[in-house]
Amino acid sequence: MTRTSPEVQALTEEMIALRRDLHRHPELGFQETRTAGIVAERLRALGYTVRTGLGKTGVTGFLAGGKPGKTVLLRADIDALPIQEQAEVAWKSESPGVMHACGHDAHTAMGLAAAEILAKDAPSLAGNLCFVFQPAEELLIGAEAMLKDGALEGVKPDAAFAVHVMNRWPVGTVAICDGAAMTSADKLIVTVTGRGGHGANPHSAIDPIVASAQIVTALQTLVSRETHPLQAAVVSITMFKAGTAFNIIPDTVEMTGTLRCFDADLREKLLVALRRTVEGVAAALRCTATVRNEFLTPAVVNDPPITALARSVAAEIAGSDRVLPAEPLTGSDDVAYFWQKAPGCYAFIGSAKPEWPSAPAGHNAKFDIDESALSIGAEFLVGAARRVLGSA
Ligand SMILES: [Zn+2]
Ligand SMILES: [Zn+2]
Repeated sequence: MTRTSPEVQALTEEMIALRRDLHRHPELGFQETRTAGIVAERLRALGYTVRTGLGKTGVTGFLAGGKPGKTVLLRADIDALPIQEQAEVAWKSESPGVMHACGHDAHTAMGLAAAEILAKDAPSLAGNLCFVFQPAEELLIGAEAMLKDGALEGVKPDAAFAVHVMNRWPVGTVAICDGAAMTSADKLIVTVTGRGGHGANPHSAIDPIVASAQIVTALQTLVSRETHPLQAAVVSITMFKAGTAFNIIPDTVEMTGTLRCFDADLREKLLVALRRTVEGVAAALRCTATVRNEFLTPAVVNDPPITALARSVAAEIAGSDRVLPAEPLTGSDDVAYFWQKAPGCYAFIGSAKPEWPSAPAGHNAKFDIDESALSIGAEFLVGAARRVLGSA
């Protein structure tokens, strides 16, 4: 049975209303001006020192407690996805082709509710509150952009927390990973060059399409044949662009994909193997190839003592039998950059409605959450902050 405090109960209606408002007006990464405006205005009204325009549209709110002590960082992501919503809800997206299909509307509402409750605590808190409302998580570049703009200048967080709603778990549960929680992410850009020609005279051309097809196949062996069976990694080619007509062999093929790993050494090893495989297969088929990788985010690794604290806070809210040990996720989240600044724990708040496990997952056009997850997430953020700052 879920336990929510009277303070969270008092804010639940407002939190749901804000989540629905944000859901109606979703904004893509680095375009979250309306959302950031609402966040900044509410934080200011609560007495926080607010900074805006960090990493284009990021917002921070800082509040010192009545006594000196530790600093706790609480992060919420605020961006939406380029998806046309198909969920039949009264608060359906009013922006064509843009949808909060990952629940960041809920994270923003939970973060602001926690900010309100903790602001009232501030005089009795031993330490400082640092709220981070981060843009462009879906692009995996918002956190780094905020940090480059000095979002944490003069702030030394001792512990960090964030929550993510997840329909893979039913509402009422909280899932927490020990150690590795989410993978690092690289974007891969592979260009294969041959020599174009007539589609009916392949012998007088050098066909980059056939070479690229074999490269895609050969890349499947990086995980299956070169990675230890007990280590995890993902190599996916997700875009394959070539050609202009049925009778023309093109000069080049451009492929885009992603590499995901939990282990930084394995990532380095696979990047070398990737280059060797692409260049080697291309050369065997008389083509040349280049591989470019953009390192987007490190892996999210939960800190053991902070995770133990998070698990105990979650157990008080959800009941210990509903705090689930979670397998690491092969998705990525650039919250990892904040975890490099402070030991952190990322908690997954079960949000599936009773029809679980068939509830549409995040990034699906029919994604929707059970809104009772909001009070659980807000309660978790409040509880974790109080525990770190010694005012539980
Ligand atoms: Zn997402
Ligand atoms: Zn998300």
